[in-house]
Amino acid sequence: MRSEWTDARRIVVKIGSSLLVDSAAGALRREWLSALCEDIADLRAQGKEVIVVSSGAIALGRNVLKLPKGPLKLEDSQAAAAVGQIDLAHAYEDAFRARGLVAAQVLVTLGDTEERRRYLNARSTITTLLKLGAVPVVNENDTVATNEIRYGDNDRLAARVASMMSADCLVLLSDVEGFFTAPPGSSSDARRLDEVPEITPEIEAMAGDVGSELSRGGMVTKIEAAKIAVQAGTDMVIASGKVMNPLRALATTGVCTWFLARSDPTTARKRWIGGTLEPRGAVVVDSGAAAALGSGKSLLPAGVTRIEGHFERGDAVVIRNGEGVEIGRGLTAYGHAEAEALIGRKSSEIAAILGYLGRPELIHRDDMTLHRKGQ
Ligand code: GLU
Repeated sequence: MRSEWTDARRIVVKIGSSLLVDSAAGALRREWLSALCEDIADLRAQGKEVIVVSSGAIALGRNVLKLPKGPLKLEDSQAAAAVGQIDLAHAYEDAFRARGLVAAQVLVTLGDTEERRRYLNARSTITTLLKLGAVPVVNENDTVATNEIRYGDNDRLAARVASMMSADCLVLLSDVEGFFTAPPGSSSDARRLDEVPEITPEIEAMAGDVGSELSRGGMVTKIEAAKIAVQAGTDMVIASGKVMNPLRALATTGVCTWFLARSDPTTARKRWIGGTLEPRGAVVVDSGAAAALGSGKSLLPAGVTRIEGHFERGDAVVIRNGEGVEIGRGLTAYGHAEAEALIGRKSSEIAAILGYLGRPELIHRDDMTLHRKGQ
């Protein structure tokens, strides 16, 4: 068993429509789902956190609405998703309940994982669900999506969720056993790679656009997903979901393809906060707060002496000490006007000042990177 799997503490599992829905009958494959939930319950019993990203809403709904086979118009897909998502959520609720677990439905749009404010909210909601012991089941909010909905979108969505959640491992359960040197069926000497240490142009060229009727996205979207995942420090694995208990099979047979991340998710996230994001303002802190940050604490409004710039909740801001030295960067939990109102105040006063129960920290330590410790 590979360490990427045994050491993973937070795992995102993406389930494609073709595994969950019998395409001929348009019905849910309940036995398969039940076995998958058994695998997930096993992982949970080992102390791992599991987030599911599941497709299947459109595939289920189109059958109920008796929509024709073949590609659907956007509005028909959205109508199908509105119907099918209910069935999908019920199916997970039932299957998890049978294993003593609670399912939580989380519908997001692809933009959510990029848009700052929603990003922070989605991350903290999913974190809370995990803390409370529920299994988040994520899908795209297809009924309000503005862009074309394509099968394969959920590969990318799952990678964005994995990156947003700093997951250690992303499993794409698919109707193929891994990544092949040529599209399966197109060449007799196509072979499965055990691991892809780096996504080179050569690897990208190997990804043909093949797949079953329900997974038209094929390998191209999986490679796109792999790029997002490994960049975020998440190892990604493509494995077959065609077998019963596919996660157990992944652990025991090793028939799959691993895309390896170069760093861990925490390091990658700190790099993203510290380097990639353009800061929108600054927060100046007193010496007590600077010392607290240095010892790994979050930044509370009480330690803030000045706010600079116009920023929104979720934006990156620079953290400076009283001498004007940048000591770190972080994602702010409050926009500049609210942050201004909270300067020097105790977290217990937040509700009275803002009129709602906000978060106690201005910048949570998980959303922060420091340049020099102890400043
Ligand atoms: N969100 C779509 C659904 O649940 C599927 C998108 C995908 O398969 O990538 O039907």
